[in-house]
Amino acid sequence: MTRTSPVVVIGGGQAGLAAGYHLRRLGIDFTILGADPAPGGSWQHMWDSLHLFSPADHSSLPGRLMPTQPGTTYPDAGHVVEYLADYEKRYDLPVQHGARVDAVRRDGDRLLVEADSGTWRARAVISATGTWSRPFLPAIPGRFVFTGRQLHTVHYRRPADFAGQRVIVAGGGNSGAQIAADLALDGHIDVTWATQRPPRFLADDIDGRALFDVATARRRALDAGRSDTGGVASLGDIVAVPPVRAARDAGLLAAKPMFTRLTAEGVQWADGSQSGADAVIWCTGFRPALSHLAPLDLRGPRGRIPTDGTRALGEPRLHLLGYGDWTGPASATLIGVGRTARDAVREVTGLLT
Ligand code: FAD
Repeated sequence: MTRTSPVVVIGGGQAGLAAGYHLRRLGIDFTILGADPAPGGSWQHMWDSLHLFSPADHSSLPGRLMPTQPGTTYPDAGHVVEYLADYEKRYDLPVQHGARVDAVRRDGDRLLVEADSGTWRARAVISATGTWSRPFLPAIPGRFVFTGRQLHTVHYRRPADFAGQRVIVAGGGNSGAQIAADLALDGHIDVTWATQRPPRFLADDIDGRALFDVATARRRALDAGRSDTGGVASLGDIVAVPPVRAARDAGLLAAKPMFTRLTAEGVQWADGSQSGADAVIWCTGFRPALSHLAPLDLRGPRGRIPTDGTRALGEPRLHLLGYGDWTGPASATLIGVGRTARDAVREVTGLLT
């Protein structure tokens, strides 16, 4: 059966909800299709000890401040899931959970959105499918030779799953540092942290609030035609959240330069020496989840779709929201996505008149 909805939003995480909030405010009829069977986007899949890198009042979507979580400055992922579930209800956002979109196609003056639960004809589509469902693994010799477990960040849950094991955590970003710290602080795991370049910790007093301020200052400078301030990347890669700080200060977070290959029993380092390992956890990032847009043939470099703001250059009825800074400054953060969603919805409104 084919249904009609002026606007279809694909993805029921924070970016999809922020779009829904602004569509609702403007009185536009829309549908949100989200593959996850429950509210919360990727927050419901993150590891047990994960906490936000910003306090609640700096982690809010438009219209509704995230409540503080008792006993902690930095809320945990479960708290974010509750907030998003409540947000969805409060604004009566029409999310169909468990509806995965397989393809978006052109059909004359409409876009056809094909989901496993049916097909929608829409005048505009906002894609907000995030990156969590597309973990990135680097090519490395020996990948299929290693007889231990290989996991990605998306599969990691808790240290107890590795009790008594030798674990190598690969990757020098926030996920790598946090998972290495989580395992090392447990005390029952032999952890080695391997990174491509020496880890760059941000100063201890810098959390998500300061990062957002820096990103905002950069956007203002660029908008005003001033020179690039370098933004967040110029400060470092790793936010020294409390567990990372604790592990680092206890001397448990000394990184080794990345190994050069996997062996049957573990890894081989650049100097030829080898270490045994029961598991390798790849904390090597994500790519945007855009396979449902393949029929539109819009792909650009690095798995992205070229955009002007959020609007796809090759298909003006399609907007991309979240994903990363390439779809708007800080649009892949809780506090940042609201502004980009507002701009995207304004442009979409122009398509409906
Ligand atoms: P998601 O939360 O991934 O939501 C996308 C939704 O789309 C999912 O529910 C998915 O099921 C659905 N979907 C995917 N494909 C389809 C399809 N084909 N059809 C239908 N639905 C589909 N940001 C902060 O602001 N503060 C933090 O402290 C912070 N910490 C982070 C820690 C980690 C480890 C990571 C990975 C990210 C963190 N972020 C943080 C960044 C960002 O806020 C999150 O990644 C956030 O989940 C992005 O929201 P989203 O809505 O864009 O994507």
